[in-house]
Amino acid sequence: MSVITIERKVLEKNDEIARLNRALFAQHGIFALNFVSSPGSGKTSILERTLEHLIGRVRIAVIEGDVQTDLDAQRVAKYNVPVVQIVTHGGCHLEAKLVYDALTRITLDNIDLFVIENVGNLVCPANYDLGEAMKVVVMSTTEGEDKPLKYPGMFRNSTVLLINKIDLLPYVNVKLEKLRQNAFQINPSLIIFETSCTTGAGIPEWCDWLVKKVPAAE
Ligand code: MG
Ligand code: ZN
Repeated sequence: MSVITIERKVLEKNDEIARLNRALFAQHGIFALNFVSSPGSGKTSILERTLEHLIGRVRIAVIEGDVQTDLDAQRVAKYNVPVVQIVTHGGCHLEAKLVYDALTRITLDNIDLFVIENVGNLVCPANYDLGEAMKVVVMSTTEGEDKPLKYPGMFRNSTVLLINKIDLLPYVNVKLEKLRQNAFQINPSLIIFETSCTTGAGIPEWCDWLVKKVPAAE
């Protein structure tokens, strides 16, 4: 059996479980999003700012995917939202089965918005459907304007791009316009927000857009 065949079988099995997750979310009227990015782009900080903005407007639960620690889950737990930590022990992406197991440990009846923070990695999380309604790719301005071209799968499979750390633009050799062009070249329908967790720029715009996706918030 070739490697390609094995990989296809793994992904088929994953898609099957992702459908179960999607059905669970639908049954409970939950909107689920999957945050993906390379390490250090600011996913957890974006999540914290998003929680600050949306707590009280929608009921939120979080799954934290991490290779080794529960540091991000501890940051999120401060907001008093249900949070389940998945430690992959070296695994470089979340799989639908891991999310399914986490979902069995949360009371889904009281949740409107489910946020999954994936493992920091711009490659394989693009291929693993977790049952989410959309992927949100976070990219820091420090990563360079060529990332959409170098990791097209991730940008093609995402609905939203958050260009984060825009407060650092004066200090890095990155042209925002070029970065946007590269992203649109890979995925013309990407919805882009420019954010900074330090200044708070772009966070209200992102959150107001997101909350409109949540059925219970209408
Ligand atoms: Mg994180
Ligand atoms: Zn992986």
